[in-house]
Amino acid sequence: MLQSEQLDTRLVLAANDKVAAGLLIQRLPLQGEANLAGAGAVASDEDQIGLNEDYNRIAILAASLKREELLELDADTILRRLFWEEDLRRFEPLVGDEGPRFACTCSRERVSSMLRSLGRDEIESIIAEQGQVEVGCDFCGAQYRFDPVDAAQVFLQPHAQPPATPNLQ
Ligand SMILES: [Zn+2]
Repeated sequence: MLQSEQLDTRLVLAANDKVAAGLLIQRLPLQGEANLAGAGAVASDEDQIGLNEDYNRIAILAASLKREELLELDADTILRRLFWEEDLRRFEPLVGDEGPRFACTCSRERVSSMLRSLGRDEIESIIAEQGQVEVGCDFCGAQYRFDPVDAAQVFLQPHAQPPATPNLQ
């Protein structure tokens, strides 16, 4: 976080066989726009890392959170217990279509174009070695398999592809 966002960050995580919970504490950027635009670190933010008293106090309080508390208590209780001396402002969590949900942007088309960028020689040598090309998405766990026919199709022009038949899927 310090290297990519250039912002003081503290992350507390816990999980058991039923629940996974986390608390992320992050100091707001001094000049948010530049940071959000990916323009790189704002010098004043970098200079501030580790020096901001308010942030350090809140980060130390966050780190005092016990595993059981994080797993068993609701957000309001945790916030009250940890930060009862702070001026708290709680925003209503977004739910439904607006709320957070798991999603992955991977697709067979994206994997195909990644294979194209590796080049026909590379793909053919993988096929010769393993009989197929298998690509797993580290984010969502989806597995994409390309048998020799699928792999050959990857290198055909899209409009030159024969209509898909079930036994090629
Ligand atoms: Zn994925």
